[in-house]
Amino acid sequence: MDLQSLAMLGPLIGAGVAVAAAGVAAYQSMAPWAQGFGPTFVGGPAGSKQIAFTYDDGPNDPHTLRLMEVLEKDGVRATFFVIGRYVQRRPDIVRDLLKAGHVIGNHTFTHPHLIVSGAVETRIQLEECQRAVEEATGEAPRLFRPPFGGRRPQTLRIARSFALQPVMWNVTSWDWKKPPAAKIVEKCTEQMHGGDVILMHDGDHENFGADRWQTVVATHLLIEAWREKGYEFVTVPEMMAGTVVDPRSSVGG
Ligand SMILES: [Zn+2]
Repeated sequence: MDLQSLAMLGPLIGAGVAVAAAGVAAYQSMAPWAQGFGPTFVGGPAGSKQIAFTYDDGPNDPHTLRLMEVLEKDGVRATFFVIGRYVQRRPDIVRDLLKAGHVIGNHTFTHPHLIVSGAVETRIQLEECQRAVEEATGEAPRLFRPPFGGRRPQTLRIARSFALQPVMWNVTSWDWKKPPAAKIVEKCTEQMHGGDVILMHDGDHENFGADRWQTVVATHLLIEAWREKGYEFVTVPEMMAGTVVDPRSSVGG
């Protein structure tokens, strides 16, 4: 290779490195299991007999209510990452969730993409959601899930300044695409191996009142199938407690 072709390659190599770096940054920002931007909880140790259902983008009427009925009937407690502006709209639903033993987490006030939010905006989003839940229930959330799973170092730092523990997931139900319940069950089942934190939706960040009936049905079907296999259903804090206590666990929080 002569000098001239080397010189021509220079900018190409530079561009390649830049693209790779951008790829890594995008991966750290969006991949639920990536830990490069600081630790987030993604699940219990593989092989554990615990499963945690998590529901985002509520409270929602009527499907948070229908979901609560199914969970009550099946004797399961779950974790709900709520949107502050919906909490203000229906504080009664969030109160009922807490009363029924479910756990409430912060999912911001209006569900923005926090990767592109400045520090002030991020702080306001988290604070307003904390306040809405506290006004509704008397208790401030201790868990936080960023909208779209998107975060950067600043996002997690600000969450921790509110004593919020960031929680991601390791099983994606794809239920926001509104497939039939059987499809949601199939998607989850192919990713589940115990110690699962399953991402589902009882609401929709774009409109209040979204139809989540298929998620409600899928929840019941998953409980039936996995309970028979000897699994138990826990909240995220219960799974976290188990993970910390087990010294053999290789999965950190
Ligand atoms: Zn969401």
